[in-house]
Amino acid sequence: MITFFSCAISVGFGYSKAYTLFKEKNLIFYLFLLFVMVVYSFSQINLYQQCPRKYQYRYLDKLEREFETTPDLMLGTCVHGALEWLYQQVNVFNIPIKADLLGKFHELRQNAVAEAADKLIYKGEQHEEDYLRRGEKYLESYYQTYAPFGETKVIATELIMNFELQSKENGGEQKFRGIIDRLDKEGDAFVINDYKTNKQLPPEQKEEYREQLTLYALGVQQKYGKYFQKIKARLHYLHFDLRDEREITDALLAPILEKYRNAINAIEKARFNYNMGRENAFPTQQNPYCKYCEYQQLCPLWKHLGCGDELVEGGSLGAQTIKKLVDQYAKISRETSELTKEKESLKEILIAYADKGGFEQLFGDENKLTIKKTDSYLAKDKASFQEFLAEQGLLEEVMDLPYYKINTLVKEQKLTPEQIQTYLDKKDSRRLTASKNKSTDED
Ligand code: SF4
Repeated sequence: MITFFSCAISVGFGYSKAYTLFKEKNLIFYLFLLFVMVVYSFSQINLYQQCPRKYQYRYLDKLEREFETTPDLMLGTCVHGALEWLYQQVNVFNIPIKADLLGKFHELRQNAVAEAADKLIYKGEQHEEDYLRRGEKYLESYYQTYAPFGETKVIATELIMNFELQSKENGGEQKFRGIIDRLDKEGDAFVINDYKTNKQLPPEQKEEYREQLTLYALGVQQKYGKYFQKIKARLHYLHFDLRDEREITDALLAPILEKYRNAINAIEKARFNYNMGRENAFPTQQNPYCKYCEYQQLCPLWKHLGCGDELVEGGSLGAQTIKKLVDQYAKISRETSELTKEKESLKEILIAYADKGGFEQLFGDENKLTIKKTDSYLAKDKASFQEFLAEQGLLEEVMDLPYYKINTLVKEQKLTPEQIQTYLDKKDSRRLTASKNKSTDED
């Protein structure tokens, strides 16, 4: 029954729900849970790395999100669809002419535009004709490069791969899922093909694309290993008529595999903490994509933007609006830091002057400054100095716990709050950091 309990938690039920199920001894559900485990994908892991909170909203809270589509995304989907169709024809030795390929692209694009209706928004100077022209160019140029396709042996198109990133015996099962655009056989090699329609070169995520295909190679190995000697990954950058190809060797795979296994371990840990009711198991992480995030209105980092201004009792300041208080606090913070800097440079000048003249006091018209010389020390070698202090019986007197370091250890998940709760009291603290509000800067 313990297995049932932890299993219920791990598949996303809250602690109390899991406990209820556990108490009810629901056998059917128990069996169901035993066979359910999280299957990770490349995009899931990337999303977690971009922002853990967004991951939580999407995959644990399963919050509904608006159907997202952009003309660029749609272009990618339609080009992929046309190439999938092309290779399905090639696979039955029915080689289409170029015009048919372009016709297929137009058909797919037309259907997609009709389906998206008013959810499709063109931004900037780009219009539908521009996307059609781009798609045509990509496919024309691709066709010219690879026709007449006689040598191509297609194993599969849009191949869904379910595979193990890590087996149960090797430290806990990790399941992974991915879709391969096209898998070919070329001589003694299997080739994973992936089409990209990005306009940037090198694309921002080039390394991520390579990592993705390297992981998929593991899936291909697990499924088709006995049929090939070598495995290659080929990225087709259609906008530039370029391809990036490399052989996937064990040496190449090992570090990438480790990276993604560690990422999954971190997600599993956060999921467990979340299900145990731990606050902030998936923290927010501000990033350049926040402005496109569908959860912005919910996100603690941004939701205040959607609230109206509120009047609060400001103590000695009287009634004030929150906006005013924010700006006032930021202004004081900036002034304080400027004053601190100014104070430091004044200190430097005055000490140099006092040292030179041998003065212990300096006089202004209304104030005087007393300069006291004190010595401060820095250890040359920390360990041997600590040893020396221990010999002198003085170590305890200089040992103090640097609490900020404990916070860092908890943040880095090297210590858990449960481990330290016997020894330490938890105190809520808040830090305010002032910065310019970019959206108002741009106005
Ligand atoms: S708005 Fe930004 S910080 Fe908030 S959930 Fe979305 S990506 Fe994360």
